[in-house]
Amino acid sequence: MEIAIIAHDGKKPEIVKFLMDHKEQLLDKNVKLFATGTTGGYVKEAGMKVHRFLSGPLGGDAQIAARVAEGKIKMVIFFRDPMGKHPHEPDISMLMRICDVHNVPLATNPATANLLFKSLYE
Ligand code: PGA
Repeated sequence: MEIAIIAHDGKKPEIVKFLMDHKEQLLDKNVKLFATGTTGGYVKEAGMKVHRFLSGPLGGDAQIAARVAEGKIKMVIFFRDPMGKHPHEPDISMLMRICDVHNVPLATNPATANLLFKSLYE
């Protein structure tokens, strides 16, 4: 199963912690992680295997959206920073819309991500 991981700058440590907390289950279920470039760098540094797309502002969110539309990525974990401004806001909105179009679960904060993971691994 393919899961996409994205975090805005202020949320990157939080997403790494989230993944580390679920490391066993991810390995257990043979989950393949896909991430935007910088987020993926953090995840890789933490010792996890991840496929990195371009950095978000350079088109990484759009690449992930394309893979969602193709039916490959089945879940998106996107820790957004609600206080920040982002040059690639149109790409972010597009990714969220594509998740809705294809009925793909999308978590934008750790509380929701936890619930999604729970339902996956029960
Ligand atoms: P990044 O992109 O992981 O390359 O920082 C995240 C984002 O889309 O904001």
